[in-house]
Amino acid sequence: MVVDVQCIMQGLAAVANCYHTKLITTDDRAKIEGATHMGFDEANAIESAKAIVRAAIDNFPNRKPGFFIPKHKSELIAGFSHETINYLLGGLFRASYRPLNDNIINGRIRGVAGVVGCNNARVTHDNIHVTLVKELIRNDVLVLLTGCAAMAVAKTGLMVPEGAQYAGEGLRSVCEAVGIPPVLHMGACVDNCRILIAATAMVKDGGLGDDISDLPACGAAPEWMSEKAVSIGQYFVSSGIYTLFGVTWPTVGSKEVTDFLFKDIEKMYGGMWDFEPDPIKMAQKMIAHIDKKRRALRIDKARERVLYDMAMRRELT
Ligand code: SF4
Repeated sequence: MVVDVQCIMQGLAAVANCYHTKLITTDDRAKIEGATHMGFDEANAIESAKAIVRAAIDNFPNRKPGFFIPKHKSELIAGFSHETINYLLGGLFRASYRPLNDNIINGRIRGVAGVVGCNNARVTHDNIHVTLVKELIRNDVLVLLTGCAAMAVAKTGLMVPEGAQYAGEGLRSVCEAVGIPPVLHMGACVDNCRILIAATAMVKDGGLGDDISDLPACGAAPEWMSEKAVSIGQYFVSSGIYTLFGVTWPTVGSKEVTDFLFKDIEKMYGGMWDFEPDPIKMAQKMIAHIDKKRRALRIDKARERVLYDMAMRRELT
């Protein structure tokens, strides 16, 4: 097992020690007592990686019977950056978010949700992430995922284009036309800026308001546990995104602080916090927010397609 600078509990070394597993740290700033340190050399990345793979292979004979490796395997397509989305939607020579914006405006895609954050030992592993994301795509919300949330959902097979079969009719038709999954893996939780870069690109492309807070979009960390998740959440809120957290919320004891974070802060940043431990209710709150933004943009009603004949065109000019 290789760890670098993500939030790794120090006790992991003791747990690994109970098995044959070798715990390897790679970042010189984040060594763990009891782990093997194999510093990652950026200039010779392949050599560093090969040395780690070799250590794993050498350790294989130490594997004893009595461990459990699940038979279930699931594929995923990972690494959707702002640039990849651009090319996938618009093609190499006309890279653009236009198809995404157009499909949000015409209602095939209801909105966009960023789902990020940790697993939490207080709830059934992965369950909240998976239930929330399934409910969102069923309601035509395109989901962008990072971090441990992404790993949770990848295991369910939603991160391949075939995952579109679980999406609502509108989202499914767009995913099938472009060939993308309904749930996009955008990297580690330290890559959340990619989600906001995508949001900025949507605003820039036009037709969905003048600010990130105008977009039919929201964010969630349904199983958060790390303090890092709070700072990332505040980054979303202050960028204009309505952001929900699950499991527990640290300010519920203070009405004044909670009212500020859940309501008043919206006047300052356009986004605000919210708390909802139930994944279905969380999805409903997110969809209600998306619909509110759609109404404000006046794209809440499906527009009838009108084919113009010559007389109608002349009338236009
Ligand atoms: S999602 Fe949470 S647990 Fe996972 S790496 Fe990020 S902060 Fe850590």
